[in-house]
Amino acid sequence: MKPVQLVVVGSIGLDTIETPHAKKNEILGGSVSYACASASFFVPTGMVGVVGTDFPEPCVDVYRHFGINLDGLQKCHGKTFRWSGIYEQDMNNRRTLATELNVLETFMPELPDDYTRAPFLFLANIAPQLQLHVLSQVKSPKFVAADTMDLWINIAPNPLRDVIAAVDLLTLNESEARLLAGEKNLVRAAKKILEWGPKYVIIKKGEHGAMLFSENDVFVVPAYPLEQVFDPTGAGDTFAGGLMGALSEWGHVNEAALCKAMGYGSVVASFGVEDFSLGRLQKLSRTEINHRFAAFKRLTHFDAVEVR
Ligand code: AMP
Repeated sequence: MKPVQLVVVGSIGLDTIETPHAKKNEILGGSVSYACASASFFVPTGMVGVVGTDFPEPCVDVYRHFGINLDGLQKCHGKTFRWSGIYEQDMNNRRTLATELNVLETFMPELPDDYTRAPFLFLANIAPQLQLHVLSQVKSPKFVAADTMDLWINIAPNPLRDVIAAVDLLTLNESEARLLAGEKNLVRAAKKILEWGPKYVIIKKGEHGAMLFSENDVFVVPAYPLEQVFDPTGAGDTFAGGLMGALSEWGHVNEAALCKAMGYGSVVASFGVEDFSLGRLQKLSRTEINHRFAAFKRLTHFDAVEVR
């Protein structure tokens, strides 16, 4: 197996999801599942996560299908993390119905030795204390990104601030950015978060795309327009996984690389929402990603359109 270039830590869950199209019980989910699957189209990716003894073997086969390195996957006595949510007709609105931490409650992520030297690290959504524990094990990574959610902003603000101070990039969605910064305006919210340490902040806006903020610049990408979205669960993790995968493939990070990587993240996420769980990503090829990326470039590149 090729050496792992990107390590991702996050949650592994069995999700029960209801959308206006269908209801699915206990399907494979969790931030690290989506992020690793997405990144695996670009680079050898290592997963750090925990499952319980009830975790179905076919779900491990799904990870193997993507070629994800599973040396950092722990199996602990107890039940796998479970989450359930319901989407309204307007799928930008989702309500969490239940969260059962189960084995996530006592999880201590331990990185296999070769993961500690990986140049890229993505701390996907999980308790910030665990993100810090992973950070303490890595040896001078080139680039570290973190994601979070409203729950941690509310119940673990101090460890979360330590995470934010230690990473190069923070990704979060627009309501989380407002909550974290205590600021309604997104530009001002991003500026405030940048002052806390990271060089870059990406605010994800669901079907309205994403915005990248750095000290002196703002860059905006739309979401790839789709006729039908089946399940937006994990879109943000898929976006971030694709973005980190593309950066890891190129091996270096600057503002231009980040902008382009956001394009790849958006494209992989646009495939991900075409089915539940990792269903669509399992059938996806790098060629399809490249084709949609080319189409995405055409539809966003308005300075190439000549006005006569
Ligand atoms: P997103 O749609 O980006 O919010 O991600 C959805 C995924 O996050 C689902 O697959 C859930 O299993 C997972 N998830 C939900 N709540 C939590 C939590 N408190 N900590 C970690 N992961 C979670």
